[in-house]
Amino acid sequence: MLTIGRPFISRIGEKSRLNCDILVEEEKRTLWIEVDKEYEKYLCTERCDAYVVGLLGWCLREGHDIRSEMPITDELHYNLSRILIPGLTKYSSELYAVKIFAPLESPLNEGYAVGTACSCGIDSFYSIFSHINSPYEDMNLTHLCFHNVGAYKSFEKYGIEKGRKERLTKTREVAAELNLPLVVVDSNLNNTFIERHLFTHTFENMFVIYAMQKLWKIYYYSSSGLDFSNFTVIDIKNKAASYYDLLSLQCLSTKCLRIYSDGGAFDRFEKILEISDNPIVQKYLHVCLHKPCNCNICDKCRRTLLMLDEGGMLDQYNNVFDINFYRNHIDEYYRWLYNVQMKGGLEKELTMPVYIRLQKNKSFISVSRKEHIKRIIKKPLRPAYRLIKKYVR
Ligand SMILES: [Zn+2]
Repeated sequence: MLTIGRPFISRIGEKSRLNCDILVEEEKRTLWIEVDKEYEKYLCTERCDAYVVGLLGWCLREGHDIRSEMPITDELHYNLSRILIPGLTKYSSELYAVKIFAPLESPLNEGYAVGTACSCGIDSFYSIFSHINSPYEDMNLTHLCFHNVGAYKSFEKYGIEKGRKERLTKTREVAAELNLPLVVVDSNLNNTFIERHLFTHTFENMFVIYAMQKLWKIYYYSSSGLDFSNFTVIDIKNKAASYYDLLSLQCLSTKCLRIYSDGGAFDRFEKILEISDNPIVQKYLHVCLHKPCNCNICDKCRRTLLMLDEGGMLDQYNNVFDINFYRNHIDEYYRWLYNVQMKGGLEKELTMPVYIRLQKNKSFISVSRKEHIKRIIKKPLRPAYRLIKKYVR
């Protein structure tokens, strides 16, 4: 059983913190989010919504029910207990069907702002530029967000905090160029309730939105490069949360806080074609998994470079990628793409659009054939390699 305490606000210099003690059986863990003092008035102490949402991914995996004396928004409780939790656990027997015990209250209905995260990635920029000066005036962005809820853990070798600060500096520049305020949120959620961010990122990001539900009316959560055709709720324990965003974000919405799974009608290749001429995207695009500047060689950098090349946009991005390095090592990038496709999994799906387009490229076809022959030769030798590896340690 996980028991949610009463949230309270404290101040640290120019920052305000929303704290909440959470009991995991008998063990107390204090969860906090921190914002600039000007946003303190939006921190929600009247509902347990943020904690239920933020910890749901963890509870589904760790097998805990949730109890709170603080009320939960009635519609949110309905959506979670009647739709989302049974929907996610039905075809994933390893997930626990969490029960939520809390008094029900009507929604706060105080939010007015429209926001989305600014990570400077393709999905993020697509969401941003889809909601600036659109004909749907009430749905245009009023704020951008910078959340620290686990995404920067992938900067471990570079330095998580150092990398986060460098990304924040760049994000502030983007927000200034777009003339939108940036809501910066720090939290210990992913360090206090440790899960792989890939599996729980939707719940962790929505924790922050619900903790500031007095601010938000609409929030666009960018799809993670997969389009709606990849939706699934089957065997999802060890799958990226984005596979079922379409369902989870619908259930995390209420009549007073609408959360959209944004951009899922398109894959990442289609999105970059749409926004590639934008000078802000050309100046600030950042996709790297490991460094605050694009490293050129991680999976995300590789697939982005291949997409830019295939879309004829490479030279426009020489400020944010080492284009010469890419051109000098193009066969290596093709080998990587071919092997990713043969291996399967999430990376296969994310690179599928560029792989399909490269089927007409003679250089890629030539590299693929060579790699194919290598795989045929290596296949019968694989059990022997494994045996040697096992005993030569
Ligand atoms: Zn990289």
